[in-house]
This record gives sequence, C-alpha cells and structure tokens, in this order.
Amino acid sequence: MDKLTVQQRHANMAAIRSKDTKPEMIVRRGLWKRGFRYRLNHKRLPGHPDLVLRKYRTCIFVNGCFWHGHLVNMEHLENSQCCKIPKTNHDFWVAKIRRNKERDKEEQRRLAEMGWHCITVWECELKPSKREETLESIAFTLNHIWLQDHQACVISYPEIEEEEIHIPIAAESNLKQE
Ligand SMILES: [Zn+2]
Repeated sequence: MDKLTVQQRHANMAAIRSKDTKPEMIVRRGLWKRGFRYRLNHKRLPGHPDLVLRKYRTCIFVNGCFWHGHLVNMEHLENSQCCKIPKTNHDFWVAKIRRNKERDKEEQRRLAEMGWHCITVWECELKPSKREETLESIAFTLNHIWLQDHQACVISYPEIEEEEIHIPIAAESNLKQE
C-alpha cells in the first residue's frame, strides 16, 4: 500500500506540516497585533504546539480541517462541511484521519496533565468572513484563562490570612490589592 520511500514520505510530511502555513500565520499575526507574545513549535512539549504562550500557560494548535478531521463523525463516518473523506482509498483516509484525531487528543491530554491549557483553532474559522471574530475570541479566551489562573491565587489567600493572623489591617489591605 505504501510505495513511498522513507525520504519521500518525510519530504511529503514536511510540506504538509510546513511551519509557515497560511492559517498559522493568520493566528500569529492576529495575536501579535493584539499584544500577545509566543514561542513557535515548542520542541519539548507534546505535539509541538504551533504557538506557546507561557504567560497564559496555553498552547495553541492551528489545525487543518481535512488532516485533523474537523467535525467528522468518526463513528458513523459522516463527512462535515470542511472535511470530506475521499471516496477513493476511503479506508486508508479513514484510518489516517482517525489516527491523527487520536494523536491530537492524546497530546492535549498530556499537555493538560502538565498544567497547560490548549486552544485548537480550525482552518475554517480563519476564512476572511470569520477571521476577526475568531481572533477576538482567542484573545478573550486567553484573557479569561489568565484571570482564572490569577483568581486561583486570590482564592487560596484566606489560608495565608489564618496562619498570619497578626498582620496589621493596613498591610493586609495592601496585600489584597495585589
Ligand atoms: Zn473546519
């Protein structure tokens, strides 16, 4: 079934997973413009996330709808608007897309275990008519994540208060402002 040599396959995969594919560039530029800073293709994290925002403990994956089987029902093999499994070599494509989806899930599970949030941005969400809305929503989610992480510290504050009950009121209100 697989007639490609290892080198050919590597070259193919490299072309397919090219680092500067257009959808990824849209997300990078959109977030940069909104003041977010990130690292690219972090090699040490599972799945080599396309963008890594350390401050937000967040990894962003920009997924092609076809390769990652966006909205495809793998159980009943129902195509979606943005991912139509080819009729030719159907079983091959089903197996391939299923593997990709399982790998995505596994990588995100491992990232979550390591304390990372994951955001998946789909290619179809970046078409011109939806682009700005999608970027706004990513920015909103990132700010929300930051606030939540930050609030977790505030919530744990009463325990500290109990231990250090002798802190004068003035100092305490200073602490609360932080
Ligand atoms: Zn899609």
